[in-house]
Amino acid sequence: MKQGSIKVQTENIFPIIKKFLYSDQDIFLRELVSNAVDATQKLIVLSKKGDIKAELGNTAINIQLDKDAKTLTISDRGIGMTAEEIDKYINQIAFSSAEEFIEKFKGIDDKAQIIGHFGLGFYSAFMVADQVEILTKSHQDAPAAKWSCDGSPNYTIEEAIKEERGTDIILHINDESLEFLDEAKIKGLLNKYCKFLPIPITFGEESYEVETGEKDKDDKPVMEKKTRPYQINNTSPAWIKAPSDLKDEDYLNFYRELHPMNEDPMFWIHLNVDFPFKLTGILYFPKLKKTYEVQKNKISLYSNQVFVTDNVENIVPEFLTMLHGVIDSPDIPLNVSRSYLQSDSNVKKITGHISKKVSDKLVELFKADRKSYEEKWESLGIFVKYGMLSDEKFFDRTKDACLLENVDGEFATIAEYKEKIKALQSDKDNKVIHLYTNDAEAQDAYISRAKAKSFDVLKMDSLIDNHFVQQLESKDSDSMFKRVDADTLDKLIEKEAKLDSVLSAEEEESLKKVFEENVKDKNFSIELKALSPEDMPVMITQSEWMRRMKEMQQLSGGMSFMGDFPGGYNLVVNSNHPIAQKLLSKELDPETKVGELFDLALLGQGMLKGKKLTEFIERSMQSLV
Ligand code: ADP
Repeated sequence: MKQGSIKVQTENIFPIIKKFLYSDQDIFLRELVSNAVDATQKLIVLSKKGDIKAELGNTAINIQLDKDAKTLTISDRGIGMTAEEIDKYINQIAFSSAEEFIEKFKGIDDKAQIIGHFGLGFYSAFMVADQVEILTKSHQDAPAAKWSCDGSPNYTIEEAIKEERGTDIILHINDESLEFLDEAKIKGLLNKYCKFLPIPITFGEESYEVETGEKDKDDKPVMEKKTRPYQINNTSPAWIKAPSDLKDEDYLNFYRELHPMNEDPMFWIHLNVDFPFKLTGILYFPKLKKTYEVQKNKISLYSNQVFVTDNVENIVPEFLTMLHGVIDSPDIPLNVSRSYLQSDSNVKKITGHISKKVSDKLVELFKADRKSYEEKWESLGIFVKYGMLSDEKFFDRTKDACLLENVDGEFATIAEYKEKIKALQSDKDNKVIHLYTNDAEAQDAYISRAKAKSFDVLKMDSLIDNHFVQQLESKDSDSMFKRVDADTLDKLIEKEAKLDSVLSAEEEESLKKVFEENVKDKNFSIELKALSPEDMPVMITQSEWMRRMKEMQQLSGGMSFMGDFPGGYNLVVNSNHPIAQKLLSKELDPETKVGELFDLALLGQGMLKGKKLTEFIERSMQSLV
């Protein structure tokens, strides 16, 4: 038996390893199983090259628990190691890489910042074990060897008896980590990290039935119960296959495997890049609801089929984190901090590539089958708008597949829509006015009015639309967006009707006074308009600009610097309405009737509330009796 001491340059690394990644101890299993996969793949390569003549046999990697002995064993049938190789790879190289890793990340407080932790490798076993043994037999003709280390820098290495080629890593689980002797815990970890590894991983057993070949008295085949090792992983997940080998059903089945509880996705994108970086994966577009119950963290990042994280922030553009699926790229640096990732040139390219693929797909779907694209718009719109808001390039690529929907459920692209409304809905400076509603129920009176005059009203009622409207305005200085209850619709109607006021200038002056005297609310300014006699006698509008300012202030939760500002509301009085003349001639009593008209206007805008509303209801009741 040979004894040795691992050369420690700084301090004893084992206690550090134990404590270091305490919050993420789980990864030791991923590291050890990954090593087993590597060793098995190396063997398969050698065999293919003809360097190994013997039969490979079953190359599954098996995980075993022994609660009594308190051990967890990872067994592979890979290339194995000779005693010299253990010395080289475990005592020297692996140790120094573990040491380097610790050195590098010592100063980082936020351990969660370091994703992957790749490179910690074999020695991560000491996070959960106080003694680790390697029992291994090389594929080469050499005696088996056993390495053992108790968590101090001292190890032993001796000849051992092992018939089968391959390596057993035996962890003697320490008292603080007994949870890792729990079957459910291990199964959970294997499912998380190893679900799509390329070599079969088995853990525990499952039972199944086979026909014995005999028949029972009813001539039914006699079945026999058997058990076999339970395989955790799917060794060839859809994303590593060629898109041409996959049918829709395969993509859907893979989605169900990833997200068993979810509704089927609408469509997907298969990513497959070889150069200048390696990237594979499938991104699925889930059905979304307007209510924004978006589930993020549904994209998992893999590196050569090893699960790394389901937090792809800074790797996938933010707006695409609403998608589901898998990205696999060995070119994403894993042992760097999150903030560093963003500036990594590979990550930048990958982000750009994914974003481009997504817009290409959207444009393709739009062109191929517009009707079905429109049907999906309720879900799609959120991605598209969010993307267009956050990424200039995405905006330019996708704008022709971005739809606007009007209150009648008709769709048009941004350009088509502008073309459609240009003739009727433009102001004196030839700016095209897009009327919109963010709440069709509440603004029904205004929408009906607009429609009666053949104007078109867009539905802009998702949370993101506020910002999206501003984005569209900033991209096209000839287009303006005005909410249907803004002080714009009247201008359009007035312009369209080209009516003169039936009142003389003096009469108008005194009508205005009548309203000013009787509407005592300072938030309202009185505005006379010569509308059609059939139109409303009075109504409330609000300056678009003022409303947006207030909304912005509310959103930012900032100080109410607009608090004392006049509300920017207008009380529009239709000077051509018969009521106007009756008020002037005092046929109707201005003192009571103006107040009532004002209440009605407030009611139309949903602004009649509290005491005023109660009084209004009481008055209306009395007028019935
Ligand atoms: P890494 O896997 O990043 O190289 P590790 O510390 O995990 O670093 O492992 C160090 C080396 O030990 C490996 O490169 C490999 O040569 C050897 N090794 C580890 N586990 C096994 C195994 N199960 N079978 C054969 N060799 C192994």
